[in-house]
Amino acid sequence: MINLYELLEASSGQLFGEPSAQLFEDFSFEASIARPNHLYVATSATVTGTQRFIRQAIDNGASGIICEHPPELDTHGISVVLVRNVVSALLSWSQFILGKYGTRVIGVAGAAGKSVAVDAIGMVLAERFPVYVNSSMPPGRIGIPMAIAKLKPYHKFAVLKLSPVNVGDMSAMVQSTQPVAGILTTIGEGRSKNFDTIEQFAEEVSQLVEYLAPSALAVLNYDDDLIRSMLSKIRADVNTLGIASYGADMIAHNLRASFEKTTFDLRFGDQRFNEQYLAILGNYHLYSIMAALCIGLRYDIALETSLSVLSQMQPLPGRLNRMVGKGNSTLIDDTYSANSQSAVSVLKWLEAVKDETNRVFFVFGEMGGVTGANTSGYRAIGTHAATIADVFIAQGINAEIAARSAIDNGMSSDHVFMTSNHSDTVSILEQVYQLDDHDVLLIKGGPSARMETVVRAMLRDKADERALLTRESLNWIQPTQMPSRLTWIELDYEAMAGNVQALKQIIGDDVTLMAIVKSDAYGHGAVLAARTALQNGANYLGVSSINEAIELRGASIEAPILILNYTPPHMVSQAFNLNVTLTVFDLETARAYNMLAREQGHVLRVHLKTDTGMGRLGVLADETVALCRHVLALSNLDLEGIYTHFSMADTPSSNHTQTQLDLFKSILRDVQEKTGHRPKYTHAANSAATVAFPESRLNMVRTGIALYGMHPSDDVLLDDRFSPVLTWKTIVVQVKTLPAGHPVGYGNLYVTTDTERVAVLPVGYADGFRRAPANWGEVLVQGRRAPIIGRISMEKTIISVNHIPDVAVGDEVVLIGQQGDEVLSAEQVARRLGTINYEVTTSALARIPRR
Ligand SMILES: *Cc1c(COP(=O)(O)O)cnc(C)c1O
Repeated sequence: MINLYELLEASSGQLFGEPSAQLFEDFSFEASIARPNHLYVATSATVTGTQRFIRQAIDNGASGIICEHPPELDTHGISVVLVRNVVSALLSWSQFILGKYGTRVIGVAGAAGKSVAVDAIGMVLAERFPVYVNSSMPPGRIGIPMAIAKLKPYHKFAVLKLSPVNVGDMSAMVQSTQPVAGILTTIGEGRSKNFDTIEQFAEEVSQLVEYLAPSALAVLNYDDDLIRSMLSKIRADVNTLGIASYGADMIAHNLRASFEKTTFDLRFGDQRFNEQYLAILGNYHLYSIMAALCIGLRYDIALETSLSVLSQMQPLPGRLNRMVGKGNSTLIDDTYSANSQSAVSVLKWLEAVKDETNRVFFVFGEMGGVTGANTSGYRAIGTHAATIADVFIAQGINAEIAARSAIDNGMSSDHVFMTSNHSDTVSILEQVYQLDDHDVLLIKGGPSARMETVVRAMLRDKADERALLTRESLNWIQPTQMPSRLTWIELDYEAMAGNVQALKQIIGDDVTLMAIVKSDAYGHGAVLAARTALQNGANYLGVSSINEAIELRGASIEAPILILNYTPPHMVSQAFNLNVTLTVFDLETARAYNMLAREQGHVLRVHLKTDTGMGRLGVLADETVALCRHVLALSNLDLEGIYTHFSMADTPSSNHTQTQLDLFKSILRDVQEKTGHRPKYTHAANSAATVAFPESRLNMVRTGIALYGMHPSDDVLLDDRFSPVLTWKTIVVQVKTLPAGHPVGYGNLYVTTDTERVAVLPVGYADGFRRAPANWGEVLVQGRRAPIIGRISMEKTIISVNHIPDVAVGDEVVLIGQQGDEVLSAEQVARRLGTINYEVTTSALARIPRR
């Protein structure tokens, strides 16, 4: 229960208006789930947003509000507490409650192993005391009041996980909770994303133990260099923990790990316990377990008792939780979180427990968290994976760094896979390998990678889904945290996988699918788009230039690649080294290629392009046979294919495509008759022709736009097996009401006729959000359409939100994609701009972050 007057007193708050409810069951930190008898906590990050969330909380029945600015709406019947800073106020309130109940706090901090430590300490203390345990409290200061709100007066202890997000968090948390004991599990190389260096993170968590009173207890991992170096600064009593390291107070040694249990001997002073068991896996969890033993001793719980209690402890979901996978494989779910430290530790554990009959699959997603790719961390993981795993599947563009490092460290590339999405990861596990009971699947990734999806798909028994990780709703963060990027593109490669499969179904097995990934895959990210295409039925890639091929080869994509455009002869040796196929369309260039290839002693693969009626790149139709004959005579060129391109396939009513196709077929006949050569591939169809003109598929199609779920044209629509892959978003950064007669944007092109609410968006033509001759016209916000007013600036845009009263700073805005029930498709945007969807997605500039 939260008492209004205690809250006012503890937080030095003031009542705003007449109080109503005086007791509340709980806080609501999220307006959308506020309810009667709850006190809604309006945090301060977004001032305009706060007002809207307050309204939403009131609409949902909240009985009270704590906020920093007087609400701008009728709060009759609601108790409103005004404070200078909501988070500080709630920390003071937490301190007050802990004092009032006389509850002693035990705080656990570190980069990994905190939840296991919190739960283990809770189990041990519960032997003698009523104890409150919260191992799932959210990071940051706000986690403290969220946890303390659930504390009961009879709790003698509260065991809390203290996770600083920003510098200063730890000392604020320590001040409000005054812990009687502080535990540092491990730091290693792990840290959270707002800390620039590991040392900075270590400095932050060290506040926990440095500020402990002399009568308190600090429990430290003696094997962690950064933690050990804090020893000199601690005033409290200290217990150090070590695994087979003989300087520590408590030592676990003689470790024997298996897939079922961890066995160890324990030494503390002159006490010795041999052959102790834990159902918790992972040697590094022993630090958390030993911390619980130390806390138990501190409160007169004998080691025997604690050891026997802890032997019953079961793994937590997503923390080295062993399950039964398909084919009776051993499935190790370690999807809760990942940093390079924890990934390397778990690989080492696996190395210790596996035997030579086991085949080890390491399935690894992005670590997330750290801003930018933590390249050295990923490389370290790859190095270890190379010695331990038999098969390595890396999902996501950063995880690829680990996969490549595994290859560099000797792992055969035949056993290393890189994927862009969960379903491709699962299908490699299921289709490339026959899993059996010797197989061990270790699945790991950071929260944003959501690798628990892969675990779910690989379970043998559906009933085991109960033991999977369920992610906390992270919505509560939204009102308190602005997105870190102002405009970004989201790519749904799962959707792309479906599109590729649909295309493959359409063309059948006899036709080869060449996936066109030029221009960064039409803005969809060339590497992951190419991977997705190859994983789902494409066998050839098409790009515009050697430079694009370099990017793909650099990502160890080995599929054949055709360069669709002109390649200068001086790049011939590079083309050969990259093993790409060039397009030839005139004799002079073909001879130059041949000469250079001969000088360098190799044979270059080429496709010959003929112009059957588009007037673009290609040898004229009636010169094609002659060119073919010449090319065939050039012994350092290998003529693998002949192709042409349609100019009107997107307009099925035209018979031009039939004319082009007839001409192309007659050329192919002539070539065969007159040269006796039949190239391996003959191709003409782009997406439109592939979908609308089956006869044109020949034995290869070159599809681009359809891969990305966009319609080839208004007359050639994709069926509902296809869906768009790309969503482009930004946020609202200012909302204001302009008076009548107020100009908007450069050139005062728009002037308000009445008062008008407008919102400013941090996106403009420099991002490819076009200004002239026409702009997007409208965007989506709050699931509704909002018109763009005034001119688009280089990096700013103004929209009118008169009709959407709830719009607030921080709101997500969709520039392409779906929001609620509204869709703003690339096709609709293209119509506005007077262009085609192709241009819309390719002009969203590469500098916009993609994820
Ligand atoms: C871009 C391109 C394609 C792909 O066209 P879509 O309409 O996107 O399917 C096919 N062939 C050539 C030669 C291209 O340049």
